[in-house]
Amino acid sequence: MPTSTDAPYVCRNVWSDVRPRILVVDCSDGRLQENVDEFLNSRGIQHYDRLFIPGGPGALASSGFELLRLDQIRRESKFLVEAHKIEEVFLIFHGAADGGPAHACCADSKRKLPGISSDEINSTQKEDVAELLRLFAWPINLNLHVYRAEVGADNRVRFISLQS
Ligand SMILES: [Zn+2]
Repeated sequence: MPTSTDAPYVCRNVWSDVRPRILVVDCSDGRLQENVDEFLNSRGIQHYDRLFIPGGPGALASSGFELLRLDQIRRESKFLVEAHKIEEVFLIFHGAADGGPAHACCADSKRKLPGISSDEINSTQKEDVAELLRLFAWPINLNLHVYRAEVGADNRVRFISLQS
């Protein structure tokens, strides 16, 4: 007789073969995942392809020294866009707002750029945006959205558009 932990878990929701045409590139940082879902839900988005990697969209930008990783992640995202016929992409950075907790910054940014401050991380992310807009220009009619999830001094998370 299997114990309850050995018994299969059967989901309430059945599998859907309808592919979402939305890809979200986000950091693996689990502290923000519920906020990201809430933000996307506020835009009417419940189902989406996920590319959750340390650094999120920052891992697709060349502001670091790990060129092999950069190339690999770019190829993975290109594969998803093409194979899953993605039409819309959300690139979601994260960090601390002005006056927000420094430990809300992306650990991957600190790894890539040791000694960098919260403000410098936010500036680097803005510089990455121009490169990412060019990178995602290859699929025709791809609808691109770039945000930063900023944690404020009040621990509230605000999604700020990084597109001018
Ligand atoms: Zn992160």
